[in-house]
Amino acid sequence: MSRDDLPIAVVGGGIGGLAAALSLLRAGFDVQVFEQASALTEVGAGIQISPNASRLLHRLGLGAALDRTGVRPAAVHQRRWDDGRTLQRAPLGEAAEAAFGAPYYHFHRADLLKALADALPSHRLHLGYRLTGFTDHGNRVELRFDHGERVAAGMLVGADGIHSTVRDALFGPERPHFTGCVAYRGLVPADRLGHLELEVLANNWMGPGSHFVHYFVAGGRLVNFVAIMERETWKRESWTDRGEVAEALAAFKGWHPLVTAIIGAADETFIWALLDRPPLDRWSVGRVTLLGDACHAMLPFMAQGAAQSIEDGATLAACLSQDGAADVASALRRYEVLRRPRATRLQEMSRVNKTRFHLADGLEQQARDALLATRGDRTIEALGWLYGHDASAIDGNSLTDSHGGST
Ligand SMILES: Cc1cc2nc3c(=O)[nH]c(=O)nc-3n(C[C@H](O)[C@H](O)[C@H](O)COP(=O)(O)OP(=O)(O)OC[C@H]3O[C@@H](n4cnc5c(N)ncnc54)[C@H](O)[C@@H]3O)c2cc1C
Repeated sequence: MSRDDLPIAVVGGGIGGLAAALSLLRAGFDVQVFEQASALTEVGAGIQISPNASRLLHRLGLGAALDRTGVRPAAVHQRRWDDGRTLQRAPLGEAAEAAFGAPYYHFHRADLLKALADALPSHRLHLGYRLTGFTDHGNRVELRFDHGERVAAGMLVGADGIHSTVRDALFGPERPHFTGCVAYRGLVPADRLGHLELEVLANNWMGPGSHFVHYFVAGGRLVNFVAIMERETWKRESWTDRGEVAEALAAFKGWHPLVTAIIGAADETFIWALLDRPPLDRWSVGRVTLLGDACHAMLPFMAQGAAQSIEDGATLAACLSQDGAADVASALRRYEVLRRPRATRLQEMSRVNKTRFHLADGLEQQARDALLATRGDRTIEALGWLYGHDASAIDGNSLTDSHGGST
């Protein structure tokens, strides 16, 4: 596909879709994003963006925007659920930035989405466009939207999340899998928690059947928490998305006072069923491909779902730049050959962490803690393969801004 051909249609204006659109635009492609919502929104919650993703966002020119609201934690701190004993404390901050060439950030999701959206020229974003179907004609793809409009594109990227319409059309409908975990998420004004003297860290407390994550977002003005617990069933019809603070507190009864103080300071929490999907054998058919949660939804226990979607977009742009002019289908095959093993590995690691983080006190937990003390898995050395990866450097060449790109 030449850069002057029909535009690339990205369906889905989430973190993955917007980041992919920016990567493709910077590589010189004509890109149009179609989002079903009438406004770009993200849930009121935090997100961790590790150096493997932040290096790509910086390369897209977002560094200053990210620095305005992003918080840079000094370290990751894993602690025991009841007495708060340190299980592992590994450096992030300047040490990680020096090692990986890009920062580790904590954001309010809305701040991250805004930084991405602000970088995309507004005429490239089409809100209120819900994809209902498409036809791949071999030399172009025709997209159909719920209000009846049809759009022709050179190729289609399904970045439409875990309930992806594009994925269902390519590979058949399949319900996402309930992982047995639910998460209460909340944001607390930091000044309410001043008495706790919280350090600027990525905190993870591990306990039986549950774990608790908290960190600062929004330039340090808010503390984000995610309280995860195992549940046997998730009956959507009998639950609401709004979770009672009292329920979350009851679930963490007996945990360290710092944990319950953070939960108790929230005005409201929201509850999520955590879903994932088994790895797909393929991501692409003809001129249509997938990225992000649409093809590799994972538990958030490696904090990598969005980071991997950002990587997807960078690799996709690099493959299309190198191969796309000759043959879109072969560029898409190369894209998934490069991306699938890494995304699948992270899906698996995230699932394993459900067990590791939630061990009941006993021999297995003691063995885990001993290993974390002697050979931590969050050290700079242990995470080099993950945080040091450059997803746009296919064949060792990194795609830089030198491609210019149309706006
Ligand atoms: C509790 C929790 C904590 C997490 N923490 C982290 C973390 O710290 N770090 C990290 O990297 N990841 C984290 N994740 C994962 C991360 O949130 C997701 O992987 C990421 O947001 C997926 O982005 P996406 O763009 O692929 O999909 P989505 O964000 O779901 O975006 C899909 C978009 O497509 C649109 N859409 C859907 N269908 C259509 C259609 N038919 N037509 C048009 N538009 C459509 C939707 O409206 C939406 O805007 C976490 C997830 C959870 C649940």
